[in-house]
Amino acid sequence: MITRYFRYLKNRVMTKPKKSIISIVGTTGVGKSQFSIDLAKAVNGEIINADSMQVYRDLDNITNKHPVEEREGIPHHVMNHVNWDEEYFIHRFAQEAGDAIRDIHARGKVPIVIGGTHYYLQTLLFNNKTMAQSNEPKQHDKETTRESDTVEAGSNVTPEQLAILDGPVSELFEALSQIDPIIAQKFHPKDHRKLRRALEIYYSTGELPSKLYHEQKLEELEDSSLVYNTLLFWVYSDQEVLVPRLDARVDKMMAGGGIDEIQQMYGAYQAQEPRPDCTRGIWQVIGFKEFLPWLSSQQPQPQQFQDGVERMKIRTRQYAKYQVKWIKKLLGVELHKEKRFGYKYGGKMYVLDASDLETWQQNVAEVGISIGKQFLENGPTAVEQAQTPARLSHLVGGEIKSNKQIGAEAGWKHYKCEHCKDKTGMPFVAVGEESWQLHVGSRRHKRQVGAGAKKRKHEEMLQKYGKGVKREEKGEEAPAEKSEGGEVNGEKPAQKGE
Ligand SMILES: [Zn+2]
Repeated sequence: MITRYFRYLKNRVMTKPKKSIISIVGTTGVGKSQFSIDLAKAVNGEIINADSMQVYRDLDNITNKHPVEEREGIPHHVMNHVNWDEEYFIHRFAQEAGDAIRDIHARGKVPIVIGGTHYYLQTLLFNNKTMAQSNEPKQHDKETTRESDTVEAGSNVTPEQLAILDGPVSELFEALSQIDPIIAQKFHPKDHRKLRRALEIYYSTGELPSKLYHEQKLEELEDSSLVYNTLLFWVYSDQEVLVPRLDARVDKMMAGGGIDEIQQMYGAYQAQEPRPDCTRGIWQVIGFKEFLPWLSSQQPQPQQFQDGVERMKIRTRQYAKYQVKWIKKLLGVELHKEKRFGYKYGGKMYVLDASDLETWQQNVAEVGISIGKQFLENGPTAVEQAQTPARLSHLVGGEIKSNKQIGAEAGWKHYKCEHCKDKTGMPFVAVGEESWQLHVGSRRHKRQVGAGAKKRKHEEMLQKYGKGVKREEKGEEAPAEKSEGGEVNGEKPAQKGE
């Protein structure tokens, strides 16, 4: 408690000024790259890439790299440097991007990070201790604490523990429940990644994840989690104009050398034994596996190629949707906490309206540069512009429900449904009161309850009257049993994760 108090004082009184950073987020196809160049020229900036596919060498078209001839001499870091047979991980990104930021700052310039890949940005911008902080300062442990599916266990994990970590999800849940029943209730019993990570933390640090979690929450309440003075831009476009732009972009890629790149990739793909996994490394890029049927065909048909283009368009749209959701729900929630500190380290997200290409120059470039200059010259709280143009005010600033508060542990509870099954045929499990209420109110649950009631009724009738009733029962609608399960609250589910 005393150390915490000192830390609090230190944060209040002896705060070292943080260095500034600018980050640009948004879907593809809105002109993020163009804006980053305009901004970099105006504020003496350099670009850091935070897109997990653009780190790989070449393939400029399908990975959407901003063409070198349009970069106007602005240096781009953490880009185009990884071989195709390597797999790039977040800890390497954190290291390389961190080095680039220090280097850019040391030369008196402004780092401008373009994302990209959401968890890359998250790890760079926020000082989240991600529940795990080992007592010993060790480089290697960083790898196990980062949000990643491919964490390696720390070196002090025993073979028995390793066997549990690599075992089935039911054993992970069992083991975690015994060690730390509180945290075990926080995660869904099938959430392999989170259960594994929590166990791993315990095995490698000896600390209870729930305790670390609690401490981290306290730290978050004490001070901003922003690593730098952070200015964020969201280059935004309305869905109805974005979709045709994304489609046109795919067509342009194919016309501009994308086909050669895909074929070149296929050559490298075939040369590898066994064949690469299309969910890893460069092979997961949008625009490769969509074309595999065409590439591997003995007599490739134009239609097969067209189907590939179609699949690529669909996936591009889905990804764009997902990116918007992440910006609104996760980044938005994280940034909203900065309100508590008066945005003294920034953390306000400014929406630039890129919906109308005719006015792009004024609405994106000019507004953005003006905000950037005020922020850098006079500090995070000096920006005069509103966070959004009036017509887009719904996008940011709203109170978003977050589970990031002390005492959230009380809500960590599993609810097993007697009526519904999950994909594996096990009883459906909801985590937390809120998501349980949502489940109880869901159509799926009501249908199951209704079906159950119908079946019971049918069985009763059979017992009473014998088989003769079978026909009459048919076609009768199951009543929607509103009473069962109590009130349904119409609220959105709380944010997943920690
Ligand atoms: Zn149910």
